[in-house]
Amino acid sequence: MKSITEIFGKNVFSDCVMKERLPKETYKSLKRTTELGEPLKKETAEVIANAMKDWAIEKGATHFTHWFQPMTGKTAEKHDAFISLTSDGRATMEFSGKELIQGEPDASSFPNGGLRATFEARGYTAWDPTSPAFLKEDSAGVTLCIPTAFYSYTGEALDKKTPLLRSMEAISKQALRVLRLFGNTTSQKVLTTVGAEQEYFLVDKKYYQSRKDLIFTGRTLFGALPPKGQELDDHYFGSIKERIAKFMRELDVELWKLGVSAKTKHNEVAPAQHEVAPIFSTTNIATDHNQLMMEVIQKIAMRHDLVCLLHEKPFAGVNGSGKHNNWSIATDDGINLLNPGKTPHENAQFLLFLAVIVAAVDEYAPLLRLSAANPGNDHRLGANEAPPAIISVFLGDQLMDIFEQIEAGDLNGSKDAGVIKVGVSTLPTLPKDATDRNRTSPFAFTGNRFEFRMCPSSASIAGPNIVLNTIVAEYLNRVADELEKADDFQEALKKILAQLIKDHKKVVFNGDGYSDEWVQEAARRGLPNLASTVEAYAHFDRPESVEVFEKHGVFTGCEITSRKEIVYEEYAKVINIEGLTMSQMAKQEIMPACIEYMTSVAESISKVKAVCPTVDFSVQEEIVSNISRLLFDVRVKVAALDQTIEEAKEIEDIEEQAFAYRQKVFFAMEALRKPCDELERIVAKDKWPFPTYDELLFRV
Ligand code: ADP
Ligand code: MG
Repeated sequence: MKSITEIFGKNVFSDCVMKERLPKETYKSLKRTTELGEPLKKETAEVIANAMKDWAIEKGATHFTHWFQPMTGKTAEKHDAFISLTSDGRATMEFSGKELIQGEPDASSFPNGGLRATFEARGYTAWDPTSPAFLKEDSAGVTLCIPTAFYSYTGEALDKKTPLLRSMEAISKQALRVLRLFGNTTSQKVLTTVGAEQEYFLVDKKYYQSRKDLIFTGRTLFGALPPKGQELDDHYFGSIKERIAKFMRELDVELWKLGVSAKTKHNEVAPAQHEVAPIFSTTNIATDHNQLMMEVIQKIAMRHDLVCLLHEKPFAGVNGSGKHNNWSIATDDGINLLNPGKTPHENAQFLLFLAVIVAAVDEYAPLLRLSAANPGNDHRLGANEAPPAIISVFLGDQLMDIFEQIEAGDLNGSKDAGVIKVGVSTLPTLPKDATDRNRTSPFAFTGNRFEFRMCPSSASIAGPNIVLNTIVAEYLNRVADELEKADDFQEALKKILAQLIKDHKKVVFNGDGYSDEWVQEAARRGLPNLASTVEAYAHFDRPESVEVFEKHGVFTGCEITSRKEIVYEEYAKVINIEGLTMSQMAKQEIMPACIEYMTSVAESISKVKAVCPTVDFSVQEEIVSNISRLLFDVRVKVAALDQTIEEAKEIEDIEEQAFAYRQKVFFAMEALRKPCDELERIVAKDKWPFPTYDELLFRV
């Protein structure tokens, strides 16, 4: 095999490729666009398009596509060949600057929450020059993919990328104001950085294909736990089976080719569960890369006769999957603002950013919570599995101690370095690993970044980062306003820090986030506990939410209304599909199989009786009567489920409908599952109509 350095970025029209292939002036002009946000000139685009085309064709590309991220949370592409016809009927390979910069897919079927009526369904895609173009190659051919934003005729965002880019600008603007006050004159831009750890399950394709629930919903709707689950912790970080190792190897290579810096891989807690994580990058690239990663995992799995389940809760009774969104703020000249730093001056700046983030997370906890909500995650957050649905921040003992001292207006030194006498202008040097690792916190400071651990495994990370960037921008904005006015910077800083800590320390919790006591304690502290997607999204269009998004130019009120509608609509559809699938599987697969088995047991009684009338038949009778009793229960629960679905379908108001799916259908499904899983435990193995957890989880 070739070395990583040879493979890495092979299919990316990266900065170094552009440097090599573009005329100097064009390259410089593009850089001014990507780094300083200057608008891209037409002539520049023309030259870039040409170079990009030549490069792509050399590598075998026949088509190009604007690659965008509509509200489905997936990526979308419409392929165009590089073909153009000459007057004498020959074909030439063409690709213009205009085709690079803008596209107009007929995209009327993407969810838009009422933003576009079908008769004016024009949606535009526009190149995001900050994210490099790349080639997708498979046995079907090679396609040049151009990362684009997707918006409507009237300029409303129809995708996940546009608001993310807007939020990055917002936080950059406000963070720069604060940095200038600390005397930083060199940084031109502030970026948020993200490293997303992706969890997923792999199951054998032959088992997958026999389960309608996996095919239609991505999760098992039925399934009794086998005698062994994850209790021995023998899978977590365990040695990787050869079949999986081969898959992972190929996955790494394919990701590296795309410039995705896959770095770590390991087995996760649940059997058949795994994780892959890249090296962090700027937020929009990390988001694009995570989308690619999800796509590539699924594709490579297929090549190994495996199916990748990205669902948050594919199996009841063992851990589900999440995505840890490691997030930090850095300057364009490479300073990580969440690095405690070595000098007191850096420390003060660090503590201010830290306090600002804590405050933002506290005030806007519902927004952060809803950014991690989707139907799959409802089975994890605050439900059968950790983490809880309550937003809290972990800082660790040492930082907590410093926070308490600042609040008391009496900062003497850090816990471990008590000898140093300090004021705000001379804060102690903070060791990088001042935090121990708390695994149960949804939002944990981990030495030089925050790790937001609630994110759903199957969803785009754009949402959580849009919210983080925006709410932190808001608090930086407030702080900068006050500091800019102040006569005495040090005094004002001290006051602001103390106030932020006093007002928002209630969100800091360093204990066990998975415990029941925390749920009660959080309620006493007045922290919101939003148990489900529908409850969380009810906060999206509250006045305070709309205000913060509009103020920083991230979402308009109209975009929020439409996005909320999209989420509710999607929620209702997902639960509807799950409910229907469940009802069908119960009626067409489980009930007939049970009846067949029960009949065969009953027949055995009469057959044995014919030979030996005195035998004790109580065992068979017990089986027959148990199955019959459970079947009766299944019939009742299926009827109830069908009815709740019918009723929910009739509701016209979309929010009300989503709530009905959550409050009625969801629970009717849980009720139906119980007797069915009971039946699985007593029906003969070879009579059960579809593969069991045993096969799905342990026979990969
Ligand atoms: P763990 O499993 O301990 O949480 P991993 O090593 O699996 O940690 O993942 C940590 C992730 O955090 C990686 O993607 C890493 O690149 C990322 N990361 C490290 N530093 C930063 C930073 N400053 N900003 C954003 N992400 C970061
Ligand atoms: Mg992690």
